[in-house]
Amino acid sequence: MTTARSQNSAAVVESPTRLEEFLPFHKPFLGDAEIDEVVDTLRSGWLTLGPKTAELEKKFATALGAKEAVAVSSCTAGLHLALASFGIGPGDEVITTPYTFTATAAVILHTGATVVLVDTREDYPNIDPELVAAKLTPRTKAIVPVHFAGVPCDMDALMDIAGGCGARIIEDAAHALRSTYRGRNIGTIGDATVFSLYAGKNITAGEGGVLTTDDSELAETVRRRRLHGISRDAWKRYSAEGSWYYEVTELGYKYNMTDINAAIALHQLDRVESFHENRLRLVALYSELLEGVPGLAVPPEASDGESSWHLYVVHIDEESLSCSRGDVIEMLKADNIGTSVHFIPLHHHPFYQERLGCSRADFPNASRHYGTAISLPLFPTMSDDDVRGVVRSLTRILEENSR
Ligand SMILES: *Cc1c(COP(=O)(O)O)cnc(C)c1O
Repeated sequence: MTTARSQNSAAVVESPTRLEEFLPFHKPFLGDAEIDEVVDTLRSGWLTLGPKTAELEKKFATALGAKEAVAVSSCTAGLHLALASFGIGPGDEVITTPYTFTATAAVILHTGATVVLVDTREDYPNIDPELVAAKLTPRTKAIVPVHFAGVPCDMDALMDIAGGCGARIIEDAAHALRSTYRGRNIGTIGDATVFSLYAGKNITAGEGGVLTTDDSELAETVRRRRLHGISRDAWKRYSAEGSWYYEVTELGYKYNMTDINAAIALHQLDRVESFHENRLRLVALYSELLEGVPGLAVPPEASDGESSWHLYVVHIDEESLSCSRGDVIEMLKADNIGTSVHFIPLHHHPFYQERLGCSRADFPNASRHYGTAISLPLFPTMSDDDVRGVVRSLTRILEENSR
C-alpha cells in the first residue's frame, strides 16, 4: 500500500474521488466464535480430521438438504476425488467451460481423462447446454458446470443431456453456496457438487472444500480416498473405542480437511444468511447507482433462481471509452480501490493452449465476457458508503475517458 501511495502520488493530489483508505476487493469476516472454536480445537489436542470436521459435515448437509457432505482440503481436491471416485480416467472425456479457474480443468487432466471445452452462453459466462449436447461422444463420462459468480447454470438442460448418455454431473460450486436453481439449493441437484471454503469465497475455513451428494456410495468412497484409501478414519483408530488395525483397500489421496479449518467453517456456516443479506443490500445499491451509467453494464439477476452474489462483475464498453479495461483497473487502484478479473479463460493460458491445442480465437463468447469484465469490491462487512465511494470513482473515470 505504501508503494502504491508513493507511486500514485500525482493521482493523490489530482483525483477528487480517491478513497482515504484502501478498499480491498475481498475481505473475509471472522468473529470471536471462529477464534474461540480454533482455540478450543488447539487445546483439545486433536488437530486433524476428527470430531469438528464430522460436526461440520452434518451441519453442512442439513443446511443444504443434501444426504451427504464430505469435507476435504479444497474444492480442487473435492472435484478431483469426485471424478476419480466415479471411475473417470484415461480414455474418458469430461466436458467443462473455459470460463473458470484452472483448478476445474486441471483435476480432469490429473485423472488422465480428456478435457473437452465448450463455450459459454452469449448473454452470461455460464456453460451453454446446446454446445455441450453438440460435443457428446460415447466417451463422455462427466460434465462439470461452473455456476459463475453464483448464478446457477441451466441445470435442467444439463441433467437432461447427462441423463440421456449416462454422464455424471459434477458441479463446481466454488461460487455457489446459497445459490438456488428453480427452488432447489445448489448442492442437491447434480451427482456431486463441490463448494470451496478458500479465504476468498463467500464463507471460509482458511482453506477447505465440501462435497455434497445424495449418493451414499460415492460419499463413502470419497471419505476413504481423501485419507489414503484406508478403511477407517484415523481418529476412530486412535480414540478409546477404536482399534489399532486398518487396511489400505484402494489408491487414496491426502485430501482430508483438518479440525482447525473445520472449527472456522462451523461458525462461518452460521453466518451464511447474514452474509447473504449484506451482499444483497450492497449489490442492490451498486446496481441502483450504476444502472444507466454510460459505458458500463451491471450484472444481471439470475433468471432461474437466486445468485449467491459471490462476485459483482461489471462490463465496460470499450467502444465508448478512450481507455482500456486495464486502464480503468489502474485508475481505480490509484483511487485506492481493489478489483479483480474473473476469469482469464483457460484458452488464454499457455498451458491449456499447448495441452488442449486451443487458441484465444476458440471460444468467442468466453473471450468477449473476459475482455471487458471488472469484479468490483464486494464482501459482507463493506458499508453503503464504500459502495458509493467505488461508484463515484468509477463514474468519474468513465466520464473523463468517454469518447
Ligand atoms: C476458487 C475456485 C476453485 C478452487 O477452490 P479451492 O478451494 O481453492 O480449491 C475452483 N473453481 C472455481 C470456479 C473457483 O473460483
